[in-house]
Amino acid sequence: MYSNYSMTNRVNQDQSLSNEVKSDQTILIDTNSKGKDRNWRGRKIMSLKLADIFKELGYRQSLIDRLSSCGEVLKFVQQDDGSLRLYQAYFCKNKLCPMCNWRRSMKYSYQTSRIVDEAIKQEPKARFLFLTLTVRNVKGEDLNVTLTSLTQSFDRLFRRVKVKKNLLGYLRSVEITYNEIEKTYHPHIHVLMMIRPSYFRSSDDYISQKEWGDMWSQSLKVNYFPIVDIRVVKQSYQGIEKAIVETAKYPVKPMNLDVTEKQVVDDLYQGLYRKRQLGFGGLFKTIKKELELDDIENGDLVHTTDDGKLSQGTLIVAIWNQDKLNYFIKD
Ligand SMILES: [Zn+2]
Repeated sequence: MYSNYSMTNRVNQDQSLSNEVKSDQTILIDTNSKGKDRNWRGRKIMSLKLADIFKELGYRQSLIDRLSSCGEVLKFVQQDDGSLRLYQAYFCKNKLCPMCNWRRSMKYSYQTSRIVDEAIKQEPKARFLFLTLTVRNVKGEDLNVTLTSLTQSFDRLFRRVKVKKNLLGYLRSVEITYNEIEKTYHPHIHVLMMIRPSYFRSSDDYISQKEWGDMWSQSLKVNYFPIVDIRVVKQSYQGIEKAIVETAKYPVKPMNLDVTEKQVVDDLYQGLYRKRQLGFGGLFKTIKKELELDDIENGDLVHTTDDGKLSQGTLIVAIWNQDKLNYFIKD
């Protein structure tokens, strides 16, 4: 599917690296524990494509260079079972980078499941709610300011006595979807809430869909009724897992948007500039600190889990070949 991809806009960063690659060299194959290809090549090509778009948009060269060199050299340690464990690589950390967002999404699912597991251990009777808070669609140029107001309004809502009353912890993520027909953006917040069972006890504790809507409207300080969705998460491991995945859509979702569309790339990059999309609160925040889990968005993207740091085995170096558009193992 990437075979037609043209690299004309890209200057090879390091010609010497690709010159080292001989024609009889081995192509990198890296599969996950389920045997599925990790698709380094596809992600690298998408990142390069994005770099081309930034170039066409006239962004500064340093940004384009960083994006273009994302994941160029991958150093793995081969385990006894033959599997590869990444131990060193450069990742650009651009908010829209498909390579980096893949790393972020792995890190996110690892961290959140550890946090939620620990929280359930501490509060076994707790229940989970899944809340979605929306605002009206906005134009690209209003995205940045809307995202600021969205998170400020979220903070106002979660400072309310009735919300705090039975709340143990939460994780929130900001997601943006795009309406292709109207050319507008739909920023919204997903929140996974861990609550005391007393939430369901009486009307003093319980918050109905309508009440959530009224409170969100007040927190947003708008004179319309924004769409709010609240649902109880099924009390099974799968139910909670599903809600986590829903909340975790952030790192993946912007990439489902058509980033080949220049205007969308520009709007999202400007809109997300200096914005945090993930937040942990209450017990989740405390546990995250206790487990010494680092920042998902801006932290280490090499070690997405904690178990890769001290691994021993054969060193495998894979280098991106710009001419052949693939990773090859260095001799
Ligand atoms: Zn990157």
